[in-house]
Parts: sequence; structure tokens; C-alpha cells
Amino acid sequence: MNGWAAEAELVVVGTGVAGLTAAVEAARLGVRVVVVTKDATDAGSTRWAQGGVAVVVGDVPGDSVAAHVADTLTAGGGLCDEAATAAILRDGPPAVARLRARGAIFDADGARLARTREGGHSAFRVIHAGGDATGAEIERALVRAAAGLPLLTGHVAVDVLRDRGRVVGLAVLDDEGRPGVLHAQAVLLATGGYGQLYASTTNPATATGDGVALALRAGAAAADLEFVQFHPTVLYTGPTTGRRPLVTEAVRGEGAVLLDRAGRRFLTGVHPLADLAPRDVVAAAITRRMAETASDCVYLDARALDGFPARFPTVYAACRAAGIDPVREPIPVTPAAHYACGGVVTDLDGRTGVPGLYAAGEVARTGLHGANRLASNSLLEGLVLGERVARAVAVELRGNGGATWSADGPEEPAPAVPIAPRAVVQRAMTAAAGIGRDAAGLAGASDVVDAATVLGVPVDRARVEDAALTLLAQAVLAAAGTRTESRGCHVRTDFPERDDLWQLASNEVRLDGTGRPVVAARAWAGAA
Ligand SMILES: Cc1cc2nc3c(=O)[nH]c(=O)nc-3n(C[C@H](O)[C@H](O)[C@H](O)COP(=O)(O)OP(=O)(O)OC[C@H]3O[C@@H](n4cnc5c(N)ncnc54)[C@H](O)[C@@H]3O)c2cc1C
Repeated sequence: MNGWAAEAELVVVGTGVAGLTAAVEAARLGVRVVVVTKDATDAGSTRWAQGGVAVVVGDVPGDSVAAHVADTLTAGGGLCDEAATAAILRDGPPAVARLRARGAIFDADGARLARTREGGHSAFRVIHAGGDATGAEIERALVRAAAGLPLLTGHVAVDVLRDRGRVVGLAVLDDEGRPGVLHAQAVLLATGGYGQLYASTTNPATATGDGVALALRAGAAAADLEFVQFHPTVLYTGPTTGRRPLVTEAVRGEGAVLLDRAGRRFLTGVHPLADLAPRDVVAAAITRRMAETASDCVYLDARALDGFPARFPTVYAACRAAGIDPVREPIPVTPAAHYACGGVVTDLDGRTGVPGLYAAGEVARTGLHGANRLASNSLLEGLVLGERVARAVAVELRGNGGATWSADGPEEPAPAVPIAPRAVVQRAMTAAAGIGRDAAGLAGASDVVDAATVLGVPVDRARVEDAALTLLAQAVLAAAGTRTESRGCHVRTDFPERDDLWQLASNEVRLDGTGRPVVAARAWAGAA
């Protein structure tokens, strides 16, 4: 035996909106929780969220949960699970009320909550905080609500441990790189997305798909991985890599318009909502216009907006830091990888197919997003599913008769897994699996990743992440190659149309006996 060990009933991996909501709610219900996160508490995507939370609070005339569901289904391109969508959005208002009771302060307009509108929404229903600093406020409030819970920063989840198919704990590297085990009856993966698969992304450095890789290796299924949402408007400051500042959609919601390099609008005529069309439509139109005009970016003209610096302080500061004054000049923008619509397949309580293993937030695939997430639905999903997981775990633990668990350290090191250099993976994915994909490019990228892959033991955070990115690249490339149609954020240049046959199926990914992802089309629960 080596290393260290500890014990809890529930281990929560991740301190974004999903993980912290689950941890706080589970603790309230009497579950013994320990929380681990591989970086600082606020290092995930949550604290970067700008626009807000889409929720029908009830005081916007003409708006309703049914309208929110309809907008979500439209954006999702026919692949949302309608029952799951309705259930999650119905749970949104009470979940937001509890978040406010836990201390989150949203912007007010007199006695009411202020609302904005984002792409694909038919009503002003997006609540926000600090102008465009919604995620930072949610993170602040949840970290505060979680004070007193055991929270291990700098601890990296490496492997989900099972005994006879059931979760018995989690292998972890601590903040000094020492291997240890957290014994637990339940593990919640709330590890966020995988934007770092691409050279240019809005996502922070933590978004390396670790949770999807952990779940796949534990025997769970993932689905809809090919639907990577590219945010249409990310500040363009030259050909850099890594995280880029986002220019929230709410800027267009409040009247800014997109222009090409000649100063012409190009969204009118493309979609009835023009500059406020769903993200996939806007991102694809920008990509086309950049190619037609041989430009590296297009421009977002916000000069007509009143009070830009006060309404969008985060965007304003990022622009000013890049030497751009949005009050006086159009903002150079380009699409970048932003959101993983797919992920680990779960039910509406976050259960995966592996007993004791849960997933919630961006890592999960509940059926809410389909082929394209509606703006500001993800913070809401994290809130709702975080609470639902906590309740499900509380009920299931009581049914287990309070089993006890040995407190030994790890018997064996984590197994060797395929690892390719991150720069190779990011280059291949950016070239072949961005907006506009084709069979030859996807197959070529898969060959490049395979050729760069060696077996290695994930003994530190970088190797855990690189192994996850390698597996995700193989899985996304395989799923994107299989889906021979264009739908939502999956745009195939060799299959530019939607194919109704694909409306009935999600691409489900599992690992075969050699640890390689294999794809099978599977009828989704909501299909007729
Ligand atoms: C710039 C930006 C703007 C956005 N704006 C909005 C918006 O306005 N509205 C909206 O609804 N959504 C928005 N989104 C999306 C939304 O922020 C995310 O989908 C959501 O915050 C994800 O929350 P999460 O809890 O699932 O994961 P995250 O907040 O990403 O947290 C993941 C956590 O898991 C930890 N972790 C990961 N791997 C491991 C590991 N192996 N071991 C231990 N810990 C690990 C991380 O350190 C982190 O704590 C935006 C995203 C970005 C990047």
C-alpha cells in the first residue's frame, strides 16, 4: 500500500456551478461530502460566464416555460430530448430562487430582475449579475455557501474506482502529486467541458474533458460529442492560442450588429432573427463571410449602444486591454470553441450507466442541448442537475444501509492510457473538426492523433489532461465522421444538408476492449 486515503459518502469532482450546487445541497440533506478540484476553486468555466441565466421567472408578459422549451428545441436542431428539456426548464425558476436565497445577487430593474435577450430566445428572459459578470457572482455565492465543507483544491481526479461494477471511490493526485484514494459510495463528475481540444477557445485551462474520459474508462457512455458549439463572437487580437475573451451575445441582444471588413451587414436575409439568430447559424455565417472576404475576423458594431462600459464592464475591459475602444470603433471578432453540447449520458438525476457514478453540468448529456445549446441554458442546467444529483444520492445512500468502506491507500498505480502531445491534438482538431468538416479531413486528423499517441501512466495533472484530450479527440473525430449530415453545430461540407434519418439518433460512444472509442447510432429517448 502507498499514498493516502480518506472516506466520504459522496465525492464531488469540480467546483463550478454544477459541483458546488450539488455539494451544498447534498450537505444540507445530511450527506457526507468531500469536494475536489484540480486548480483554484474558481478556475472552471463558471466564473467566466457573462451573459446570464435563461429562466422564466414569471413577470415577463407573454413569456412562459413552454416558450422557453420551444426556443430550446428549435436551437437544438431536432435532437433535444423533449421530456428532459421540459423537466429541466420547469425546475429552473425554483433552482434560481434557491441560488438567490444562498446569496447570489442578480441585476435589478426597479423591483424586478433585469432581463436581457440572447440569440435564439423569443423573449427577454436572461437574468444577469454585475452587468456581464454573471458567472463570477454565481461562483462567489456558491463558494461562500460551501464554506465549511471539506474542499481539496489542487487535487486531480485520475480514475473512478469500481468493485463488481459499482463505484467505490476515486483515485486522486493531491496538490503535491501524491496518489491517494477517496473511498465513497458515489462520485459526481462536474468537471466542465473540453474547449481546450481546440487551439482557440473561450474556455479556461481546466476544460480538458477529464470527466468524459473518466466516465468512458469506467464503462459509461457518452453521446453527442460531435456537437461542439463555437461562440460566434470572441475578441480577435491576432493568431494567438489558448483562452480568448468572449464578447457576450447580450451585446447583440441590446442592438450591436455584425459587419464584414467592408462595413456591410451580412446576417439579414440569412435568418429571420438576423444578428440574433442561434449561435450555430451566426458562427457558420461569420466563417463563410471570413472566407469570402479573405479576412481573419469580422466586426461587431456596438457604437450605437448607450452606456457600453457600465453595461458590459468585462467586455469593455478586455477590449481596452487589447487597444480597442468599443464606444468608438467596431470590435474585431471571430468564432472560437465554446461549449460541449454532448457529454456523459445521464438520466434526469445525473445517473450514468455505472452504479454510483453521476455527472452534471457541461460534462453531462441530459438531452437539453441536442445539436446546439440555446444561449444561457447551461448555467441553468448546472443548477438544476446539481440539485437533482444531490437529492438522488441522498435517497440512494439511505437505501444502502450506511455501508462502511476500508480506508486503505491505492493498491496499484492508475493504468497506462494513450497520450498524444496537446499541441498535436489541438492543431489536428482545429484544422479538421471546427466549423466545416469533411470525411477526408476527419480521417486524416484521426491518423495524425493516432500516430502521435504513446502509452503512458497519468502521474501528474498535465498527463491526466493530455490523456483526456487524446481520448476526446478520437471520440469527437469518430462521432463527427459517422454523422453524415449537417445539423446544429456539426457542419459537414461534404454533407451540407440535414438528413431526417439522423434526427432519430444520437451517436453514442463507448470504449472497446482496447480502450478505443467506438460509435454506435442509438435512438434517443425523445424520438417518436
Ligand atoms: C467565456 C464563457 C462565457 C459563458 N457564458 C455563459 C452564459 O452567459 N450563460 C450560460 O448559461 N453559460 C455560459 N457559459 C457556459 C457555462 O459557463 C459553463 O457551461 C458552466 O459554467 C459549466 O459549469 P460546470 O460546473 O459544469 O463546470 P466548470 O465551471 O467548468 O467547472 C469544472 C470544474 O471541474 C474541475 N475539474 C476538471 N477536471 C478535473 C479533474 N480531473 N480533477 C479535479 N477537478 C477537475 C475544474 O477545476 C473546475 O472546478 C460560458 C462559458 C464561457 C467559457
